[in-house]
Amino acid sequence: MKVVVDRGRCVGMGICESIDSTRFEVGHDGVMTISSERFDEADRAAVEEAVASCPAGSLRIIEG
Ligand code: SF4
Repeated sequence: MKVVVDRGRCVGMGICESIDSTRFEVGHDGVMTISSERFDEADRAAVEEAVASCPAGSLRIIEG
């Protein structure tokens, strides 16, 4: 599975980064990048928490 961001909605608040800083990073320009969209089962809980916590609803998980 992988996690993707809707750039049209992301406002760079960095809550995702505060939950999983190994995967999500907001640069000085306010643009959030995902170091690795693909993740395995061991990381599912952290990714799901980031998705649920994003105030803009800009993260989603694609199964498979
Ligand atoms: S928490 Fe949501 S709005 Fe904020 S940087 Fe992450 S994806 Fe973007």
